[in-house]
Amino acid sequence: MELEKDRLFIGRRPDGSEVSLPVLTVRGSQGGPKLLLTISVHGDEITGHRSLWYLLDHLRGADMKGQLTVVSLVNVEGFNYSIRGFPYSTLDLNRMFPGDEGGSLPERITARVWSLASKADFVLDVHTAGLCTPFVLIHPAEPLIRDFMEDVAHASGLTPLYNYDPELYDRIGLGKSLSGTAVRNGIPALTVELPGFVGIDELGARAGFIAVKNVMSKLDMLDEGYEEIDFLPVIRRRGMKRLKVSAEAAGLLDYTVKLGEEVFEGQLLARVRSPLGEVLEEVRAPRDGFVVQLNGFYRTFTGGKVATLAVAAGS
Ligand SMILES: [Zn+2]
Repeated sequence: MELEKDRLFIGRRPDGSEVSLPVLTVRGSQGGPKLLLTISVHGDEITGHRSLWYLLDHLRGADMKGQLTVVSLVNVEGFNYSIRGFPYSTLDLNRMFPGDEGGSLPERITARVWSLASKADFVLDVHTAGLCTPFVLIHPAEPLIRDFMEDVAHASGLTPLYNYDPELYDRIGLGKSLSGTAVRNGIPALTVELPGFVGIDELGARAGFIAVKNVMSKLDMLDEGYEEIDFLPVIRRRGMKRLKVSAEAAGLLDYTVKLGEEVFEGQLLARVRSPLGEVLEEVRAPRDGFVVQLNGFYRTFTGGKVATLAVAAGS
């Protein structure tokens, strides 16, 4: 394989220093699909970096086809200060695609990344979701592309989930995420969510590496077959979606379930307690499903998230 490192110039900071995106291109021994791998679109989500290091070590001894392009620090500014969004703003880069080449600095970043994504055959956008089991999100799409993405999501070895229902999906702007924008433009894309809360989660990183390798095998970029992720709870079932469970009461969260656990409608997920322990609310599962994410802050404001469940998409 042939490896090339480059930096894409974006603009300058007030002190004159340069803002640029590191881009890594790995060319295989033969032609094949073009895969774009992006990491840290949210600057504080960094587990995927370790997945990338594992992947590059692996590719050195593998026979790869096609081309892998990696933009590992999409929100390069937020990364430097360990923040999700863009410094000195409330902007979220993953709600700003396809961007604007003549716009503000963050709009120019998303425009440059979009120009790479628009030439790719497949996009994998790697995030972290705090206290979670690793899962992969399928964005709304036409049936043909959706079925293909579900096949690839299933082949990744992570829990494949359809994204939120359309009302919530639109309201929180997921159509302007990198994967959402790609899919709307006919480019298959998946959002990978790995465990990781500010730092690097070691098992999550390993799962991320195996998932990318499995996707590359599925896309015929590697000829290696499927590797199972057996060290973290994954639910390899088709036809599930992610469902947010919120609490009305505010307070500290006292969980009665674990990540990966199967739960049944009406089952207690958590108690919301006041700081002195008084039970303010019992939060129960609205449907049968599996616990894929908990609130890593262990505290909730009014209407805040308590858990994400994987539930049957038709329910
Ligand atoms: Zn993210």
